[in-house]
Amino acid sequence: MSTSVPSNVSPGIPLGEGERSTSRLHLGSSPTLAALNAQVAECERCPRLRTYCEGIAREKRRAYRHEEYWGKPVPSFGDPQARVLLLGLAPGAHGSNRTGRPFTGDGSGAFLYPLLWEAGFASQPRAIARGDGMELHGACITSVVRCAPPDNKPNAEEQANCAPFLDRELALLTELRVVLALGKIAFDGYTGYLQRNGRIARRSAYVFSHGAEYALPHGGWLLATYHPSLQNTNTGRLTAPMLLRVLARARELAGLG
Ligand code: SF4
Repeated sequence: MSTSVPSNVSPGIPLGEGERSTSRLHLGSSPTLAALNAQVAECERCPRLRTYCEGIAREKRRAYRHEEYWGKPVPSFGDPQARVLLLGLAPGAHGSNRTGRPFTGDGSGAFLYPLLWEAGFASQPRAIARGDGMELHGACITSVVRCAPPDNKPNAEEQANCAPFLDRELALLTELRVVLALGKIAFDGYTGYLQRNGRIARRSAYVFSHGAEYALPHGGWLLATYHPSLQNTNTGRLTAPMLLRVLARARELAGLG
């Protein structure tokens, strides 16, 4: 399904421009994504999530018992000049909470990265660990919550706590044209950003569905896909051709050819 909100579309205006954050964190001193990512990795704002992530990192899954888990909040990954931002939900407990890089080391990433490679965003199909040589071109990946939550369910306060990081990332990604929400929580997280920064008046006009496509009032696009979780990919709710089509559309709208 493809949906478009009538608007004065100005696709040339970067999505992060004109940030007006209501942040309770003070992130103004992070002039680059690298500096922001260093702040992310040290964040302790959500006690429940920090306790959970550190516990998982200590206990480990048997298959990874000889590895040192990352166990900290997971920073964004990708091209600082990205035109497309992939926005996920949160790190997986034994995926990016283990490896320290979004969608790296679990079933979601094993599905996503080969498609990013096929779509021309990734330098290689396999994502195994930080330092595996993976580079993204024209794309960046982040999430609405940067610590793995129990049962993949962050609560509302935790999502609000982490929102200032998304605001700052979007301000720093000055070339951004397209945000691709991976799942409904990411979609809602981004429409929340648009509303609190005065870019949209109401969120009710933006409804999540796989393949949804919205031209935004101040320029840029919001696209959506089902989340590439094993629950979706193993059941066929999300197939590789379905996600590849959305990635190709993101490329097209971003002017990446
Ligand atoms: S979820 Fe976000 S705000 Fe909460 S501790 Fe992790 S990085 Fe900090």
